[in-house]
Amino acid sequence: MKVLVFGEVVDGTIQNITYELVACAKKLGEYLTLVTSDADVSSIDGRVIKVNAGETNPWHYKIVEKVIERENPDLILFGNTSSSVDIASQLSAKLPVATSVYEVSAENGEVIVKSLSYGGKIIVELKLTTPAIAVVNVGSYNAEDGKGTASVEEIEIDELGVRDGIEFLGYIKPEEEDVDISKAEVVVSVGRGIGDETNIEMAEELAELLGGVVAGSRPIIDQGWLPKTRQVGRSGKTVTGKLYLALGISGATEHVEGVKAKNVIAVNTDKTAPIFRVSRLGIVADVNELLPTLVDKIREIKEG
Ligand SMILES: Cc1cc2nc3c(=O)[nH]c(=O)nc-3n(C[C@H](O)[C@H](O)[C@H](O)COP(=O)(O)OP(=O)(O)OC[C@H]3O[C@@H](n4cnc5c(N)ncnc54)[C@H](O)[C@@H]3O)c2cc1C
Repeated sequence: MKVLVFGEVVDGTIQNITYELVACAKKLGEYLTLVTSDADVSSIDGRVIKVNAGETNPWHYKIVEKVIERENPDLILFGNTSSSVDIASQLSAKLPVATSVYEVSAENGEVIVKSLSYGGKIIVELKLTTPAIAVVNVGSYNAEDGKGTASVEEIEIDELGVRDGIEFLGYIKPEEEDVDISKAEVVVSVGRGIGDETNIEMAEELAELLGGVVAGSRPIIDQGWLPKTRQVGRSGKTVTGKLYLALGISGATEHVEGVKAKNVIAVNTDKTAPIFRVSRLGIVADVNELLPTLVDKIREIKEG
């Protein structure tokens, strides 16, 4: 089995998903990574083909096509992120594509994937006719396993004979820089159960004590209690750190899709809340009663 990983670069930096995909590819057989920008690729484990075509953008699918022709991989892995999906979708006219994949295996030359369907309500197992594409969810594999030493082969864009169709002019960044919740190790997340905007202050205090950041479910963002950059879930960000504290969050599928932290602790007054199904520890309590006690206790421990 030969696997080609599409290495994702944003603003000149290799994204963590690239290492996760390499970790996945390593388990399947021979593997190589394609990076279509001038990023520093030295920490990607194994063979890397680098084509300097500026920042990753949708027309780079043409480069992927050429590298597929050249390398003949059985499987091409993309991350389930907006920029990688833009590219994978353009290749879907020619190759079978499985999306929302969280596990890939290879048996007797066949690719089997497990993927989430209907917004995560159903898990499906699919056999793909190779060559095929799997779009893998963030957090499915351990990024550390994909880091190592790269053996880099640089190819000039002219050698591939592709012409760019889109010129990348730059990122339009939000005016106010905000923390990136997808990179935080500890996320204290609040949901509608928090009741009132003023209660977020306590969650912020807890986050500060734990060295983490505050995030929220969609209703919290929609009400303007936290900025859009702090939304966890399908239409927000995916959190992948060590701890996710879900305070007054019901655990709707669209929310849980963005929760890939190693440990989830949930606080909810309803013991049947779906969030408990994905939690390592569940606490049936009123979050606004528990929070002040929790903050006091942690401060006591830290100061003592
Ligand atoms: C296309 C689409 C995309 C979406 N994308 C997202 C997304 O990216 N992120 C997202 O979050 N949602 C998303 N949603 C919305 C999602 O379906 C849910 O409506 C949302 O996640 C619910 O947020 P919540 O858990 O905060 O609120 P609720 O579902 O209202 O849950 C509140 C919870 O708090 C508990 N509670 C109440 N009072 C207390 C208390 N005092 N102490 C402790 N617990 C208490 C309740 O028992 C309940 O479980 C999306 C929906 C659609 C259709």
